[in-house]
Amino acid sequence: MKKNRWLLFVCLLSARMLAAQEIALTFDDAPIADGLYYTGVARTETLIAKLKNQNVPQVAFYCISSRADSAGRARLRRYAEAGHIIANHSHSHSRIQQLGAAGYVQDIFKADAILRELPGFKPWFRFPFLDEGRTLADRDDIRQALNERGYFIGYVTVDNYDWYFERLFQAALREKMQVDHEKLEQLYLEHLWQSLVFYDQMALAALGRSPKHVLLLHENDLAALFIDGLINFLRAKGWKIISPAEAYTDPIATTIPDVLLNNQGRVAAIAKAKGYAGRFSQASEDTEYLEKLFEQQQIFQMEKR
Ligand SMILES: [Zn+2]
Repeated sequence: MKKNRWLLFVCLLSARMLAAQEIALTFDDAPIADGLYYTGVARTETLIAKLKNQNVPQVAFYCISSRADSAGRARLRRYAEAGHIIANHSHSHSRIQQLGAAGYVQDIFKADAILRELPGFKPWFRFPFLDEGRTLADRDDIRQALNERGYFIGYVTVDNYDWYFERLFQAALREKMQVDHEKLEQLYLEHLWQSLVFYDQMALAALGRSPKHVLLLHENDLAALFIDGLINFLRAKGWKIISPAEAYTDPIATTIPDVLLNNQGRVAAIAKAKGYAGRFSQASEDTEYLEKLFEQQQIFQMEKR
């Protein structure tokens, strides 16, 4: 009996190790305006070049169409022409509660009309703030409208606070502080890695397997600065970078959980529907936590006079 159990353990462990650990990269809120490190154009060109150098042929950009003025549109076109996917992240990046479900749906299709003409466009919608509605009526009205227009919900599986790293970075640049780039990169990679491990463990508990993951990033300066480091880091950990289209072939793509908790991503929503008893977000998905961490590690220092 004991021997059998041991064998089972070994088998499960090897199955776990053999399981492809795969992840797709997605960038929200494109095209983001000039930062204090990169102009918008330089950021776009940097991302395209680094992805190409790292042999990552396809990522997805979830776009806010109100930003697609002629300069913004030209940047989206550059991504599309480089082989990347252009998808819908609404026109105004509002919350459902602000617009009401009907207004929210209009906002989605306003974006559709603007983005659809770009090469590389896919009718995938990612909810701003990953918020799919606070009431069942809103949630279901919006889901139905998306469905009727042939839209797919461009979910994520790995939520994280990359946007807050960017906010702290831009604030430090504004204050003309010295930035320890090496430490910042380490902290950024570590944060993303811990997020991936956190949601992968949740998936193992709730699904019994590691799904094809979808990482949420933003099209910001830090992403352009560290994307090559991130790809190397993930590959060194044994992970394979796949295209978003491939990630969305995972069975979880068609498992739409009947819950209102969606703002931590698809794995968390499925876990919630299955009665998962663990935490749904990790300690580092918190602004105060991250501020303290940045202070402790002295990522930014006042310029010496
Ligand atoms: Zn967004």
